[in-house]
Amino acid sequence: MRQIDHWIGGAEVASTSGRRTPVFNPATGLIQAEVGMASNEDVDTAVAVAGDAFGDWRSTSLSARSEIMFAFRHLVEAHTDDLASLVTAEHGKVHSDAVGEVTRGLENVEFACGIPNLLKGGFSEQVSTGIDVHSIRQPLGVVAGVTPFNFPVMVPLWMLANAIACGNTFILKPSEKDPSAALLLGELLAKAGLPAGVFNVVQGDKVAVDGLLDHPDVRAVSFVGSTPVARSIYSRGTANGKRVQALGGAKNHMLVLPDADVDLAADAAVSAAYGSAGERCMAVSVVVAVGAVADPLVDAIASRLPKLIIGPGNEADSEMGPLITAEHRDRVAGYVGGAGSQGATVVVDGREQHFDSPTCEGGFFLGVSLLDHVAPGMAAYDEEIFGPVLSVARVDTYDEGLRLINANPYGNGTAIFTRDGGAARQFQFDVEVGMVGVNVPVPVPVAYYSFGGWKESLFGDAHMYGPAGIDFYTRTKVVTSRWPDPATSAIDLGFPRTR
Ligand code: NAD
Repeated sequence: MRQIDHWIGGAEVASTSGRRTPVFNPATGLIQAEVGMASNEDVDTAVAVAGDAFGDWRSTSLSARSEIMFAFRHLVEAHTDDLASLVTAEHGKVHSDAVGEVTRGLENVEFACGIPNLLKGGFSEQVSTGIDVHSIRQPLGVVAGVTPFNFPVMVPLWMLANAIACGNTFILKPSEKDPSAALLLGELLAKAGLPAGVFNVVQGDKVAVDGLLDHPDVRAVSFVGSTPVARSIYSRGTANGKRVQALGGAKNHMLVLPDADVDLAADAAVSAAYGSAGERCMAVSVVVAVGAVADPLVDAIASRLPKLIIGPGNEADSEMGPLITAEHRDRVAGYVGGAGSQGATVVVDGREQHFDSPTCEGGFFLGVSLLDHVAPGMAAYDEEIFGPVLSVARVDTYDEGLRLINANPYGNGTAIFTRDGGAARQFQFDVEVGMVGVNVPVPVPVAYYSFGGWKESLFGDAHMYGPAGIDFYTRTKVVTSRWPDPATSAIDLGFPRTR
């Protein structure tokens, strides 16, 4: 059995805990490897190694750091296929989607290549007679990232590119469900010239995460995952005096106004709901259909579903792969069954699709489902399903739709579909959600903006990557200086004045 271990100090290091967890191939249902779970001792080792590497790394010139980021950018691009294949093998998403993930992750490396520009401080001359003030941004020290299963390349790159370019040393705790891509990222960073110890991976679960949250030498923690875990990580990390950004789950609504083009909206809803088997934090999970658009829209979505090709992610024709585990597949299927008994209409029932072909048998596959007349109070509406289930909620007016979206505890992404620019502008003004698409169903910001939801989708005040990432991974120092003539020196017990 292939063993997957930590990456500490520029080399693979075995776990000392003796605890190992199976890593499945979701398309076959077979165990393909085992990952070693970190002990507290492993976490201490990684933090010590990252701590030792910090002094030299923060002293490394900006141009040298930028050069390493450029080399890393080139290597990630050259290894896109290798990274995507690892993602497909352990996560299950189709290869083209995995390539898309790597490409969106790469944007963050490209952003970090501009670190000399991004770390510029400010300078004010003559704030008082003969006195100047300047500000500088300095790294925090050892920082950690804890990432979810659904983007094993992109989400680590959201964090590590900026964190490292800013001069921090970094410890990644990837999801134990798809741990291999993190190790390839470590190898590529080493090949790019990153000194040993600047980037490290500890594999594991709550033990590893709690170890990082409690370790006095870890200065900041970035987290992306489900809301209950995000909430607990935020409170534990901040109680320990750390800077924490914790991004949680989602329930993304797509508001379709009566003037929207039905085919365009249906294509967008199907793509955004079922892409990556709905296992995206920016997936559309609820279409909010306003007025008379509901019937034709539900028909248009339903008519597209039988044509979707579901199969192993490494088969060229497959458009949607399996779910991450058998338990998760069964949980998702449970929402479809429950919706019918709670008053929704099951238009398409994914549980009826059977996957008994030789290439799918044993895999964690589930067909796509479409639920109509879904409303608050039903589990399919109230909870994050994180699978290939699209709900339609019907409302009479824009205002009713907006109230529904704003009342939802999550606020990650949302979209409006309309031909009316005024309505779209009003929506962008009114909606209490962090990322908004106008005729764009999955509005993940480009890397030179920042990513973050509102409400239960983000704990803390720092959005991730882009300019907010640079802020998160640095602290500001402000220097006030003067070079007075000693002949003018005098004692003055008053508080320093600028006038
Ligand atoms: P998860 O919360 O179960 O796990 C995320 C990470 O936390 C993993 O590394 C896991 O090992 C660790 N973890 C799990 N339980 C823990 C605990 N009790 N204490 C400490 N650490 C723990 O999430 P997941 O199932 O891997 O990912 C799916 C979730 O992530 C969904 O809710 C999805 O919406 C969310 N997500 C959010 C975003 C975003 O940007 N807001 C992006 C991607 C995924």
